[in-house]
Amino acid sequence: MDCVFCKIVKKEEPSNIIYEDDEVLAFMDIHPINEGDILIIPKSHVPDFYNLNEKDYLAVTGIAKELSKKINKIFKPKKVGVVIAGFDVPHTHLHIVPMHDEDDITSRKLLENKMPKFNNKQLSKTAERIRGVKL
Ligand code: ZN
Repeated sequence: MDCVFCKIVKKEEPSNIIYEDDEVLAFMDIHPINEGDILIIPKSHVPDFYNLNEKDYLAVTGIAKELSKKINKIFKPKKVGVVIAGFDVPHTHLHIVPMHDEDDITSRKLLENKMPKFNNKQLSKTAERIRGVKL
């Protein structure tokens, strides 16, 4: 299957990983809306979140909560937003976005995956900061 997120899970595509366990992978979004924008995916290829099995659903949302706290601590946004849309890649993914403006997560650019691409050095530095934060 030609799914870029499945390739990231299998380590066939590079990514800056923040968290990984048997069910879940969290990594830096290469098209972030703001610094600290991350993606959380189940390892199994399921296009829509409401079709996830209960275990995967709870694993994904549980780590979303934990990583949101870390992002809030580091980037001090007004709010940490969660977006589940999936027009860009048909593999369930949660965007966790540190929001500095009210329309950060409703922008057309985000939904259409037209955000500027960040360089790997910057993403890897940010990933390291998020991994390193103690709650
Ligand atoms: Zn996939």
